[in-house]
Amino acid sequence: MNELRACIRQVRARVEEAAVRSGRSPDEVTVVAVSKTVPAEQIALAYECGLLVFGENRVQEARAKIPVLPYPAIRWHLIGHLQTNKAARAVELFHLIQSVDSVHLAGVLEESAAGRGQAVPVLLQVNVAGEASKAGVSADELPALAERVLALPHMQIKGLMTIAPLTAQPEEVRPIFRRLRELRDSMRERFEQAGWSELSMGMSSDFFVAIEEGATMVRIGRAIFGERPTSGQ
Ligand SMILES: *Cc1c(COP(=O)(O)O)cnc(C)c1O
Repeated sequence: MNELRACIRQVRARVEEAAVRSGRSPDEVTVVAVSKTVPAEQIALAYECGLLVFGENRVQEARAKIPVLPYPAIRWHLIGHLQTNKAARAVELFHLIQSVDSVHLAGVLEESAAGRGQAVPVLLQVNVAGEASKAGVSADELPALAERVLALPHMQIKGLMTIAPLTAQPEEVRPIFRRLRELRDSMRERFEQAGWSELSMGMSSDFFVAIEEGATMVRIGRAIFGERPTSGQ
């Protein structure tokens, strides 16, 4: 518990430093504690330490943990690739789906949301670096996706999300974060009817760089909960 508390305190301090360094208010940055592979008991402790937003990458795993934790005091974000056959469950469980990367997926989410009479806040995931192994639309495909999703009455676009390449040098991914912000700005100009306020970018190794480039959500796993078992990505 003390170790977890110390990690959270340190992450908070670094978020604050990065925000201040770039002339931003720390309140503009939400820490999304990435709790994939982390047991519910540990998540409960992190919640007691003041973390309120948690990110999971698998619907199945989240489905087992969410009901045993304070809900809706804890806000849950889906940060992993979503298969359409899990879309209905995702609409039910998550407060924000950060990983919308196709018109097809958006359409299936829309159907579930309409069935429940509920709006679904989403981020559009962009594969800025064009890595073959990563989900997300390319920068070129983004306007078409945005246009189609905006036509769906229950989908609420809140902004963009990206997963930067893993590097040993956080500075190397700064251009990726900057590019996502520029893409967001151009979407905002082009499609004024959507929100576009959120930029989800940065993880344990590079969140301070992402904050300097305008991140409003940083997704932090290992710096809070420690290394994950190797089987759990
Ligand atoms: C696992 C994961 C993270 C957190 O990574 P850490 O290096 O543990 O901070 C962030 N975003 C996504 C999409 C992830 O899958």
